[in-house]
Amino acid sequence: MIHNNLSINSVGHLTFAGYDTVELANKYGTPLYLMDEDKIRNRVRVYKQAFKDFFPEGSVPEYASKAFSCKRIYEIMAEEGINIDAVSKGEIYTAKKAGFNLANCFFHGNNKTDSDIAFAIDNGVGHFVVDCIEEIYAINKIAAEKNVVQKVFLRVSPGIDPHTHKKISTGSVESKFGIAIETGQAMDAVRLILEQKNLSLCGFHCHVGSQIFESEPFCTAAEIMLSFIKSVKEETGFLASALNLGGGFGVRYTEKDPVTDYRAKIKEVADVVNALCKNLGIPVPKILMEPGRSLVADAGITLYTVGSVKEITGYKTYVSIDGGMADNPRFALYEAEHTVINATHADKKPNLVASVAGRCCESGDLIGEKLSLYKPSRNDILAVLTTGAYNYSMASNYNRIERPCVVMVNKTKDYIAVKRETLDDLISLDE
Ligand SMILES: *Cc1c(COP(=O)(O)O)cnc(C)c1O
Repeated sequence: MIHNNLSINSVGHLTFAGYDTVELANKYGTPLYLMDEDKIRNRVRVYKQAFKDFFPEGSVPEYASKAFSCKRIYEIMAEEGINIDAVSKGEIYTAKKAGFNLANCFFHGNNKTDSDIAFAIDNGVGHFVVDCIEEIYAINKIAAEKNVVQKVFLRVSPGIDPHTHKKISTGSVESKFGIAIETGQAMDAVRLILEQKNLSLCGFHCHVGSQIFESEPFCTAAEIMLSFIKSVKEETGFLASALNLGGGFGVRYTEKDPVTDYRAKIKEVADVVNALCKNLGIPVPKILMEPGRSLVADAGITLYTVGSVKEITGYKTYVSIDGGMADNPRFALYEAEHTVINATHADKKPNLVASVAGRCCESGDLIGEKLSLYKPSRNDILAVLTTGAYNYSMASNYNRIERPCVVMVNKTKDYIAVKRETLDDLISLDE
């Protein structure tokens, strides 16, 4: 099967990390997010070990927690000893409540409000990743009021198109993120940061995009960023001690997507970084990267109950499920692809090509189109694969639908990481 934690048991049901998915659906109800804790930990360890083996001391991966944010995931990342990225008060607060040491947190976002900045400083967030000129002044001012010197990175746009979907391409010169190197504005921003008494510049950050399978865009980014580090040294005397190359390694959504050897890809990046630094005559900076998707996406699946199979004679067929865009908006947002399996009959070959439709009042509420699966009957369980990233974290209450629960499984047990919302939760803020 597409992921190595999936299999089929003796009654023909899909198993996930050894658990019968139909039994889990009965136990917890559907829609149901399932996450494989051991798979997440193993993937984190692959990254961490590769960083240790190939990059200078102090180089650590950061988990881009927007991919999947809840207390339990921050506990896991704390136990595994890696850093995190956060982009809002909500993510910072969740991490704090999970006991995560916020000194190891990097605060991102292209528009941090004054209130966000004050909150992050008050809670001891280790690093800010500055995105614009206004933020330089605002963080400096608030840090001064609080009598702290805030460590910052500057996010620059290296001017790269990583050949991915345009909504997940973030490194081009026209991007809303960061400050462009090409226009000279990034260099001006560096000078401005260096003038601020309450900011301490650590280094630079870039993030070129998502769902990238080759090391090439990261190597190109490294080339541009290391040249920039050298120019900054020459023009201002400031030598960056750290370089963040962003997140973005891809995962398998369908059989068409390659299997990625993350360790090998990181080594390719490291080889290029080392060679470039040698050529440029600069010391190799600490390297940071921020995987989100590639730490959690393929550790997750979602289970749904089928309601109907509607054949529009001569046109197309819809399989309707008890979830959809409210718990997985990825098709609606990006036309993203997923693999689906009839988990009740996982031993049977696909004999139907259908659109899988959600239950929201939107024609665009689809999980996908032209999906091959074994024709389900009402109450069969449908599994949508590779939903560990950008599903729960993007879920909404559209149509006043309760958000599903998240169940984690590991070698010894299955347990609730996030409870299912109740109808009373839905009205809890209504006056
Ligand atoms: C979204 C994002 C990431 C994570 O991207 P993935 O594709 O999930 O690895 C990392 N860094 C920044 C700045 C991001 O915006």
